[in-house]
Amino acid sequence: MKIGYIGLGNMGGPMCRNLIKGVNHQVVVHDLNPEAVAACVAVGGTAAESLAKLAAECDVIFTSLPMPKHVEAVVLGEGGIAQHAKPGSTYIDLSTNSPAVVKRLSAELAKKGIAMLDSPVTGGVPRATAGTIVVMAGGEESVFEANRALLAAFSSTVVHVGPIGTASVAKLLNNMLAFCNAAAAMEAMTMGAMAGIDLRKLFEIITNGSGDSAAIRGLEHRALAGKFEASFHLDLAYKDLSLAVELATEHGVPGMIAPQVLNLMRMARGMGLGGEDSSTSLKVYERVMGREVRLPK
Ligand code: NAD
Repeated sequence: MKIGYIGLGNMGGPMCRNLIKGVNHQVVVHDLNPEAVAACVAVGGTAAESLAKLAAECDVIFTSLPMPKHVEAVVLGEGGIAQHAKPGSTYIDLSTNSPAVVKRLSAELAKKGIAMLDSPVTGGVPRATAGTIVVMAGGEESVFEANRALLAAFSSTVVHVGPIGTASVAKLLNNMLAFCNAAAAMEAMTMGAMAGIDLRKLFEIITNGSGDSAAIRGLEHRALAGKFEASFHLDLAYKDLSLAVELATEHGVPGMIAPQVLNLMRMARGMGLGGEDSSTSLKVYERVMGREVRLPK
């Protein structure tokens, strides 16, 4: 079997390298960034001559791409997967994508005899690197079972959610909670700083108390340490939360919290911070209050 992998960035890179190390199959890799390709070739991957060639020769093709529009271009665009992949092959999208888009892609690919799973992941770069990322999958159960071992090669938890699109819904809701929890944590830490209490002690109390969350812990070595280099770009977080808010609108669910956090992200993007880490929203509070909010060592 030959496996194709398109999109080797912050997430796709480490997941692909774990796949290469974890399976006895040739893995053909493709990215617009030659350095990202080289890092996967260095551990045994094969650089694709082109997207079209990769699509034509692989039995299973993964993508891990930033936005729905990038996935659509790679799947439906000229020289892409729909045009060149073999009937009987399987396409697995690991990106965080729109449920409507993945359903449309799946329907287009089905016309060519290509099966699809929407298979977003959660856990961030550290867990992608450690091979302990959580993978969720939407699509036909038989397609999921046929590919379960491949997914398990780079993850610790693999969950089949239901039909195509359902995994994307689960992923958007997971991220909505993560971003809302992170925004609440930023607000609390800013309030603690303004009230003049020791932020390290506040952090210790919260992370051992009922206010604890993975989100506040995730801020410790990022924004609260003054580190804003992206392991997860704010622009991508904004995409995810926008899709979650669209989902609430589609189903008529009152948006009490997520739209507020989307506005916070909009302010940070308006400050030119979209290319920084998703935790950079803390800088909105800092700008408004005129002081830095940092954890003492
Ligand atoms: P990234 O920007 O670091 O990487 C994307 C990669 O795709 C880049 O290397 C880029 O060169 C490549 N690319 C873009 N267009 C391409 C094309 N047409 N053909 C080939 N390569 C192309 O993004 P990321 O953080 O790795 O995120 C990838 C996906 O995973 C996104 O959908 C994101 O929302 C999701 N995600 C990210 C995280 C995280 O913590 N970073 C966590 C879970 C899910």
